[in-house]
Amino acid sequence: MKNNLEIVKCEICGRQSNKIIARGYDFEYGTLDSEFYYMLCKDCNHIYLKNRPDSSLINKIYPNTYYTVNVNSPLFLKGNIYRNKLKFDIKRIKQNIKKRKITHIADLGCGDCARLIELKKALNDDKKSFTGIDIRFNENIRNIAKANGIEIVEKNIEDFDFSHRKFDLILMSQLIEHVYNPAKLMKKLWECLNDEGIVLIDTPNWGSLDFKMFSKKFWGGYHMPRHFNIFSKESLTKLAVLSGFYVYKTGYLPSPGFWIISLRNLLRLKSSDYSKSFFEFLNFSFLPVVAFFSVFDLIAIQLKFKSSNQFIIAEKRKGNKF
Ligand SMILES: [Zn+2]
Repeated sequence: MKNNLEIVKCEICGRQSNKIIARGYDFEYGTLDSEFYYMLCKDCNHIYLKNRPDSSLINKIYPNTYYTVNVNSPLFLKGNIYRNKLKFDIKRIKQNIKKRKITHIADLGCGDCARLIELKKALNDDKKSFTGIDIRFNENIRNIAKANGIEIVEKNIEDFDFSHRKFDLILMSQLIEHVYNPAKLMKKLWECLNDEGIVLIDTPNWGSLDFKMFSKKFWGGYHMPRHFNIFSKESLTKLAVLSGFYVYKTGYLPSPGFWIISLRNLLRLKSSDYSKSFFEFLNFSFLPVVAFFSVFDLIAIQLKFKSSNQFIIAEKRKGNKF
């Protein structure tokens, strides 16, 4: 079968860059055999996948062995590590919504709804509404969401019509790098936010130490060919401003996952299943490894270095227009 790849330009400025920063393959799942090229747009400080799979290949590049839905994947998040990550997320969200009037909350790409459920418990306010949107939910997640009073909407976020909905807080974690048209998505978010509403985005960041070590090929943040856009603080800020937002806050977050995936890519370990390799201790369930890279990144961030994960809080200020 011929791969359906589309050639694209920089999402932020619309220009084609001629600076190839990385080339490689789908090291993690081997879903397509093409070589992929990541380009650096120097004007925007932005990296993008030049030859990306078109929408006819979506089911192929997210196979049922994909780590988010595959309990046998070395990257499947479970147990205490997952609970601690959720706790860290909730603490961070709570800190950032203090003093704001937040009633309607949405999580785009909510996955198993665990973050929404924990947030609902933490905020403990019957007047607040919680909505999770994702491309697919299984029966188990539907039941859990229902039991916890979470509304779920099964839709591709890029096709979802937000025009009849209004939110005060939109969470979007590790999603914007996967979408075909982040600028269009940001404008939709702007439209469905109430005045002074905020969107809290987490997404990979390039320029960290692990990026520098693995940037030519194996860096886990590329997630070849599933991350179409790799933002820097500058390019993410530029996108938010061009979409009408006021950028309230930016920062970096620990990213143990990309250290682990980069090393796994280097060692040719797949993300779909465990092999017999000695190095399979490099996985998302082995606490010493996850803790080591988390602490490393936390120290780096304290010392004002970048990590491979960033956040932005973008606010819809009254009267601002895009
Ligand atoms: Zn550009």
